[in-house]
Amino acid sequence: MSRIPLVVGNWKLNKTIRETVDFCRSLKEELFSGPEGPALGARKVEVAVAPPFTALSSAAQALEGSFIGVSSQDVFWAESGAYTGEISPKMLADAGCRFAIVGHSERRQFFHETDASVNKKAAALTAQGLIPIVCVGETLKERQEGQAFSVVERQIVEGLKSLAVRSPGELVIAYEPVWAIGTGQTATSEQAQEVQAFIRRLLEKVFSPPIAGGMRILYGGSVKPENIAELMARRDVDGALVGGASLEVKSFARIVQGCLPKT
Ligand code: PEP
Repeated sequence: MSRIPLVVGNWKLNKTIRETVDFCRSLKEELFSGPEGPALGARKVEVAVAPPFTALSSAAQALEGSFIGVSSQDVFWAESGAYTGEISPKMLADAGCRFAIVGHSERRQFFHETDASVNKKAAALTAQGLIPIVCVGETLKERQEGQAFSVVERQIVEGLKSLAVRSPGELVIAYEPVWAIGTGQTATSEQAQEVQAFIRRLLEKVFSPPIAGGMRILYGGSVKPENIAELMARRDVDGALVGGASLEVKSFARIVQGCLPKT
């Protein structure tokens, strides 16, 4: 089944509103005047940026009409109420988001994110018509102890439990081996393919074979312009969640170019 590649830039704790607007304007120019311009217009590749909460609505305004989407880096599951400091799916939709990253390993590691909270967040997002980008991946210790597959299986099964997904486009999975994030040590394309094919088989059981077959599974972990083509050549790699290399317009644009389907 053909899947439209998706590239998402996760900016983490970076960029002010001004820097976000400048970046978005330059990205539009770089992508639409570059070789990927017609393919973007024809939606052969989908692109989104994930600025911090403070800059979401400015990014959405700067990117309006461009086909480049906006994602948050997190969300809370309640719609409203006494939850000081939190942001709801409805607020993200109001700010112009199409996607929301949930379960990023930095949130699991530093902010006590669990599979149960990922599950609640993903459900709240889909109910609001937003697309969760659910991150899964094993630590180095877990890989060395031979637990990579069981960890990913638990994260998928628990994180997606009872999720109402009716079509493949309603959810995105990002496989991000924790040992590859921000380390410069990318997983080999074989390692990415092996786990991502496993994830797709799990998705067949969690949802159904047609939904699993059309769902995008991104790879994340030290993706750079130099390694994207090799990763994208793999059958179950449908795009990338990019951290460090998404902070600079030219390198992010080159990664988008590397995700274009070969014709
Ligand atoms: C990420 O934070 O999701 C990520 C993949 O970071 P990096 O590309 O910097 O490894």
